[in-house]
Amino acid sequence: MKQTEYDVIVVGGGGSGLAAAVSAAESGCDVLLLEKQPVLGGTTGIAVGSFTTSGSRLQSKAKLKDSPEEHAEDAGKFAPEEIERLNTTELRNHFLSHSAETLEWLEGMGLAFHGPSPEPPNRKARMHNVVPNAKAYVAVLHSRLVKLGGTVKCSAAVVGLLREGERVSGVKAEIDGHEFSLEANFGVVMAAGDYANAPDLISAYKGSEFENIEGINPHAVGDGHRLVDAAGGKLINMEVTYGPELRFIAPRRVDPFEQFIPTGGWKGKLLAKLLPFVPKSIIRKKIKELLVTWQHPEDSLFKEGAILLNKEGRRFCNEWDSPKREILVSRQPGKEAYILLCDHLIKKFSEWPYFISTAPEIAYAYLDDYQRMRPDLVFKGKSLTVLATLSGMVPQHIHAAVEGFNLYVAGEKKDPFGRTGDKMFLGGQTWMLLGPVKAWFTTTEGGAAINESAQVLDAGGYPIPGLYAVGQNGLGGQILWGHGLHIAWALTSGRLVGLELGRRKEVE
Ligand SMILES: Cc1cc2nc3c(=O)[nH]c(=O)nc-3n(C[C@H](O)[C@H](O)[C@H](O)COP(=O)(O)OP(=O)(O)OC[C@H]3O[C@@H](n4cnc5c(N)ncnc54)[C@H](O)[C@@H]3O)c2cc1C
Repeated sequence: MKQTEYDVIVVGGGGSGLAAAVSAAESGCDVLLLEKQPVLGGTTGIAVGSFTTSGSRLQSKAKLKDSPEEHAEDAGKFAPEEIERLNTTELRNHFLSHSAETLEWLEGMGLAFHGPSPEPPNRKARMHNVVPNAKAYVAVLHSRLVKLGGTVKCSAAVVGLLREGERVSGVKAEIDGHEFSLEANFGVVMAAGDYANAPDLISAYKGSEFENIEGINPHAVGDGHRLVDAAGGKLINMEVTYGPELRFIAPRRVDPFEQFIPTGGWKGKLLAKLLPFVPKSIIRKKIKELLVTWQHPEDSLFKEGAILLNKEGRRFCNEWDSPKREILVSRQPGKEAYILLCDHLIKKFSEWPYFISTAPEIAYAYLDDYQRMRPDLVFKGKSLTVLATLSGMVPQHIHAAVEGFNLYVAGEKKDPFGRTGDKMFLGGQTWMLLGPVKAWFTTTEGGAAINESAQVLDAGGYPIPGLYAVGQNGLGGQILWGHGLHIAWALTSGRLVGLELGRRKEVE
């Protein structure tokens, strides 16, 4: 790297890092963004893209009167009480009062949203979905950053923070096999995502029984949290996670991390510059092709009588008992399981209100939708033996699992896994297996303690000069349950820290 001194260095090129880099560049800073992976995007780049906010232009268009104050009240109704009481109220209120401006900022860059859509217990419709999915945030912010003259380096892992006395003055980064010391005159912004796939951190903070469970994003290994910790920053709510939950695996034929604009070579640079002139319909079509989903099967499947089998065909858990169910899934061969449905369940989960999962574009997906859109996840047969042949399960095991379950329903035996009260036998002429499902952490909710300027705080509550954190890296103890608040926070915290660093440059 020829240039080794910048105004601002951003660690991580997901949603929060890109927003921070763009906003700082818009505020007159010379910005370097370092991304560990060969592509930008992080978890943001594989997300659906919902952005939940109040007081938006689209709400006004829909004649909805809303306010951040009402939103703040409702945001507290999503998580269970024992989680919600850990929330840092002032920071979450501060965030919610700035999130609509962020949506406007993004619309100003050419991003389109549909909605607002309702999501109770929100009393107003507040969910705005970027069209067609979250890869659009990455493409548009990347293009804007290139246009503003920011520097983006991928395959560039930050491995340490430089200090000048108390102040964090830059980063140590490994780029193309070489180690560089890079100076940041006004601030280092940690935007390195979460630790959903860091078994050591999960085990230390949440418990060793969870250590087999992976993060949906395999690259979310908590580098940013470790760097903050090593610099003396305080980490809070590290035991709180979003999940584990069961999700269907993503289609095997696609690379979930592929993005619309390549990050290397002349093609990437050219496309980043040309993006504002490429017709939106082409961008949408291409980004839609990159769509990957890990849908979450509804618990109602099990409440209505479905059971889980491992890939050998054995039953292994009480399907109603989460997160124990997820822990046990993570201990099965291949960490995989299948949902077994018989006649009465197949009929039931074919129409409202018994959907299999939510789904992009169609909102709710039923069995027919899965057979059409994800045939790779559906095995169907007229007998358990046929089903075993199709799926590779051992016929004796699958028969034994169904017989054992039916003996419990008949009241002849206790359920060996502790289910009680099932009334419907498994049986009939048609059988289905849905899967594989795996247990995954979607995100983790621990982050650096920060103040409203996104400065990282130490154990005594004092800011560490020069060190900032945003997105999942800088959650500051907020509880952001429900859909759409994580991305709203990632992009809002990024935008705000960029403005803050611009102000610092002006006064210093
Ligand atoms: C399947 C899925 C769907 C989701 N859908 C939604 C949704 O619709 N709405 C919503 O609000 N939330 C959603 N979420 C959650 C949301 O996407 C994330 O919480 C949010 O995007 C995180 O943004 P971030 O910038 O903090 O982290 P990321 O987007 O993960 O970015 C962090 C980046 O930092 C990089 N990095 C890490 N370590 C280093 C290092 N040492 N040096 C340099 N770079 C580093 C990473 O490679 C990564 O690119 C979803 C999550 C998942 C898994």
